[in-house]
Amino acid sequence: RKTLHYLPLLLFCFVFTITQAQETNPFIEGLLNKMTLDEKIGQLNLPGAGDVITGQAKSSDIANKIAAGKVGGLLSLTTVEKIREVQKIAVEKSRLKIPLLFGLDVIHGYKTTFPIPLGLSTSWDIPLIEKTARMAAQEASADGINWTFSPMVDISRDPRWGRVSEGSGEDPYLGSEIAKAMVRGYQGDDLTKNNTIMSCVKHFALYGAPEAGRDYNTVDMSRIRMYNEYLPPYKAAIDAGVGTVMASFNEIDGIPATGNKWLLTDLLRKQWGFKGFVVSDYTGVNEMIAHGMGDLQTTSALALNAGLDMDMVGEGFLTTLSKSLAEGKIKIEQIDNAVRRILKAKYDLGLFDDPYKYCDVNRAKKEIFTKENRYFAREVATQSMVLLKNENQLLPLKRTGTIALIGPLANTSENMAGTWSVSTEQSKSIALLEGIREVAGKKVKIHYAKGSNLTYDAELEKRATMFGKGLNRDERSDAELLNEALEIASKADVIVAALGESSEFSGESSSRTNLEIPDAQKDLLKALLKTGKPVVLVLFTGRPLVLKEESKTVPAILNVWFPGSEAGLAVSDVLFGDVNPSGKLTATFPQNVGQIPIFYNHKNTGRPLQNKDGKFVKFTSSYIDESNEPVYPFGYGLSYTTFNYDNLQLSSDKMSGNDTIKVTVDVTNTGDFEGKEVVQLYVRDLVGSVTRPVKELKGFQKVALKKGETKSLTFSLTQEDLKFYNYDLDFVAEFGEFEVFVGGSSDTTQKATFTLE
Ligand code: BGC
Repeated sequence: RKTLHYLPLLLFCFVFTITQAQETNPFIEGLLNKMTLDEKIGQLNLPGAGDVITGQAKSSDIANKIAAGKVGGLLSLTTVEKIREVQKIAVEKSRLKIPLLFGLDVIHGYKTTFPIPLGLSTSWDIPLIEKTARMAAQEASADGINWTFSPMVDISRDPRWGRVSEGSGEDPYLGSEIAKAMVRGYQGDDLTKNNTIMSCVKHFALYGAPEAGRDYNTVDMSRIRMYNEYLPPYKAAIDAGVGTVMASFNEIDGIPATGNKWLLTDLLRKQWGFKGFVVSDYTGVNEMIAHGMGDLQTTSALALNAGLDMDMVGEGFLTTLSKSLAEGKIKIEQIDNAVRRILKAKYDLGLFDDPYKYCDVNRAKKEIFTKENRYFAREVATQSMVLLKNENQLLPLKRTGTIALIGPLANTSENMAGTWSVSTEQSKSIALLEGIREVAGKKVKIHYAKGSNLTYDAELEKRATMFGKGLNRDERSDAELLNEALEIASKADVIVAALGESSEFSGESSSRTNLEIPDAQKDLLKALLKTGKPVVLVLFTGRPLVLKEESKTVPAILNVWFPGSEAGLAVSDVLFGDVNPSGKLTATFPQNVGQIPIFYNHKNTGRPLQNKDGKFVKFTSSYIDESNEPVYPFGYGLSYTTFNYDNLQLSSDKMSGNDTIKVTVDVTNTGDFEGKEVVQLYVRDLVGSVTRPVKELKGFQKVALKKGETKSLTFSLTQEDLKFYNYDLDFVAEFGEFEVFVGGSSDTTQKATFTLE
């Protein structure tokens, strides 16, 4: 009887021992046993490439540190030759010969650059997005890189925040699908191959919700919002097996993420079961000093105790952890665990078998920026573009007559790839002028004029450039620039105005309070419209802009984001109709900055605005000076053809247990072009134990339809799709009535209902 009493405990011990045994890796444990404390702390250190970038690797300061076992990986070193040299120092000169990780921000392609991530998301094409990550890994790995700081999965509902360009927009469901696809693309199914690299999901967590949209600013939100709206994409990346996580700069519940134990240990490891390692963001440990968390020794100990494993650039770990250990502020087990996780990543990558597996100089010559890769980048870019307006079918352009291509973004290669691009002189992007000349054909005459600078304010332009790209101010006066533009406009049948943001107006540290097209270009656009000639606005941007005015005055608007390496060709493919645009917005375009944050999956108040025509109704949740509606909602995007939705049906109006409800709808191409449509399915939970959003995306399919063709599409819904985090943060589906919406945009009204019993 006594034995029986202890049986559960014995059983637990048995299972625990088995699982622990499976998790300990004899090779890593053996190595760990040989390491001195300094060598262990060295593994936790991720310095910048510093003087290796410009000088000789061998004689650099970094080389001495590596030889002394004080470096676990290097940030932002490029080219396979340099990486090979540095890896050689690690595996030949350091006592334990532990290879290094080489991490880089390979964000939307490597040398072959794809559209910015926000643009990739507007393709709504998951296999395509996965393939971009696969190709990025292929190219980066051929150049020595084994670790990328991507995907960035921060949900953002605030386009003032410049980094909205780096993510997938405002929706947690779509964001999660993309997060998974990118992790799969980078890491493949076998990390020991030399063309797969380790992925790092960032910025954990909630980095996309800074107060006032100002980068790095304070974040403060309820747990229920976190769990339901902001955390899902990070979790999706973890579930997809991402190897590493980057802690964000912002605070959460008053404690910076870098030192937040609830976030890095309780949530990430205990609740979600993450097994990889966590790296800080750039000097994140040091930045906690400015947050007011103490001196560098204190913040370093706080970070390690919270569950941070690797310290990026600031060397707080390197310089203070041994002191903290001696003073009993941290425990050796914590250092050991962090080292274990980092060594495990190197082990999983196969670096202990062959530290040079990513250092094949021949691969670098053959596999980077190839014709095939660039061709794919061109295709991807066409899929990301969103046609916002097309009055009187002004687009596609005819392949006859004269086009005036005007604007400061018409002939600029360096502004085509957007933030975080690693293109070089050899892998420059194709400007629109060059692309349109190639694609238009012989019968079209093309005249070009710059028309204006990007802004009137040269200082503003400079402030926007984090990496010094995109500055090419014209010395001529504003009047001279405008006159030249009007001159060519007068001879043209149609004006193509290439306007918007410069490459680095969005991205890290590029928040804006004014989201209009910059002033100088707005004036240029008005002058062009005044000529009475038809104007097509080709809009380059890294974020949703305020287009209230342009949506009324400009007949055609094609939003092309920053399209990447093949920008000019891809934009022209779409302008001339060789490719029919099919992108749909993944972030709402507001009427003005005052509406922000504005997003489709909002909640209702007790005083919702019922009428949809934007008219003011007193004592409802509305503005006296603006409607509640955006200019362009989430999910919106036109095509050169038109689609009709019909016959929305549910296989049952009741669901219980493990039932699946099939949702079917007929979609018909009713226009004159073949095209693709992103068919979106939304659900509304009408009554809940907590308030629920007015609509939530739960499925989508991108479908190609020939002229006149009808396809019947089916979506499946189960209880899993209806689950959300309730007040106790349990993930549950609640009984009651649900509405199902299907259509080509989030503002679709076609619906059916069912009851969960
Ligand atoms: C950014 C990260 C990036 C890191 C390394 C930081 O400033 O916030 O997104 O991965 O730098 O370059």
